[in-house]
Amino acid sequence: MIKKIFCILLYLIFVIPTVSAKIDVVYPTSKEITVNSDCMFFVGNTDKGAYFTVNSKPVKLWEDNFFVHVAPLEYGRNEIKFRSEINGVVDETVYVVKRNKVNLSYTGSANSSYEKINTDGYMYTKTINDNSTVREKPSSSANRLVELQKGIPLYLEGKKGDYYKIAYTGDTQFWIHKSNVQTPVKIIEKQQPMLRAQRYYSNEMYDFATFHLTEPVMYTLTHQNNTIELTLYGINSQDENGNITPNYKYKFTRNKNFLGYDCSYQDNDLTCRLAKLPENNTSNPLNGLTIFIDAGHGGNEKGSVGPTRVYEKDINLSISKYLTEELKNSGVNVITSRTDDTQVKLYDRVDIAKKNNALISLSIHANALPNGKNPYLLHGTEVHYYNENAKALAEIIKNNLSHDLNLRDNGIHRSSFALDRATNPVSVLVEVAYMIHPEEYILLKNPEFQRNVAKSIRKSIEQYIGMLKN
Ligand SMILES: [Zn+2]
Repeated sequence: MIKKIFCILLYLIFVIPTVSAKIDVVYPTSKEITVNSDCMFFVGNTDKGAYFTVNSKPVKLWEDNFFVHVAPLEYGRNEIKFRSEINGVVDETVYVVKRNKVNLSYTGSANSSYEKINTDGYMYTKTINDNSTVREKPSSSANRLVELQKGIPLYLEGKKGDYYKIAYTGDTQFWIHKSNVQTPVKIIEKQQPMLRAQRYYSNEMYDFATFHLTEPVMYTLTHQNNTIELTLYGINSQDENGNITPNYKYKFTRNKNFLGYDCSYQDNDLTCRLAKLPENNTSNPLNGLTIFIDAGHGGNEKGSVGPTRVYEKDINLSISKYLTEELKNSGVNVITSRTDDTQVKLYDRVDIAKKNNALISLSIHANALPNGKNPYLLHGTEVHYYNENAKALAEIIKNNLSHDLNLRDNGIHRSSFALDRATNPVSVLVEVAYMIHPEEYILLKNPEFQRNVAKSIRKSIEQYIGMLKN
């Protein structure tokens, strides 16, 4: 009798649990969603040996029994039924995706009309945050013109929604969000700021130019080819023909590519600096460089999730560790945002790179897609940059990754991310491959692939430095 009970127990413990056909849909995370597109992707996994169907049609299971399924969507209500069966044991789950007809008419607002706020006298304010963004239009998606420090005086002439229009003469409009400035006050007389003197000097890392002003003013830096133009707004000056112009312009020129550059105020002095390659008398092009490596996400910020619930943050960290090793072996002074599974704020990451005077910043990520896109069509390797001075590096990294790892070339993209927006250091964000593409997900999890990614990026930096030297 005891033996019999023991056998039944053994059966219950070892046999019954193996006969399961559990479906684990990893994404989407809700069983009812609205997707206004012609398809929706689903990623997840089931148990080994399952016969797996979606809406009665068999669907391929990849290694570790995961699936990446793209379901076509009709207008209205779509039922997506997942069914997994092993030896008569069945699990089923149904997802409902609603697709609406979308009106494609343009709903954006024109930027021309705004409420004028300085009909007599001037509206005066000061920035209250570092990284106070000045934009071309009164919208959080509008082009960024400059990020000002705290304490910069501004005169305002208009308001639209939550944005103030800054009063300056010129073709471009300047807008700042109200959360970045003190409540404006009316003043009768406007101070005329002046440029007292300027000074040029260098150290082993930077060429500097300091502009001594009577008070801080708004400025912009625009980079085109071999010139960076600094404009100091509201500083009257004379042009080549002796005419008085409302803004002062200064041009930095180089006969080769620019590395990082930035400007910052200390009291009334604006100092701009242009990074230069450190002296290197060895045959190793990377010797002595400082490079910042950012493993994207971390801690509670998991990033995207693969079909078997491997997190992007862990893959990013693993690739970053290999890259750190590769670069250290090449004589690079490597600075990292994280070396374990911790959460680091976006702007803290940028600050670490800046404080350590990194020449290059590399943010490492693995990609995913928004709802309604098809990962079988849109995948591969891509590199993001924001500033002109990072475009060449982005191109080299993307070309090498695509070639060395045999990945689909998904191009370079100008995108505004915290980790690619700084002009100093030269900043790129690498999306190695897609977490939700089956073959790329298998590669991303593979340590050999991760090491080869690191090798390819190291090679790219060598080529980039070689290009700068010639
Ligand atoms: Zn990411």
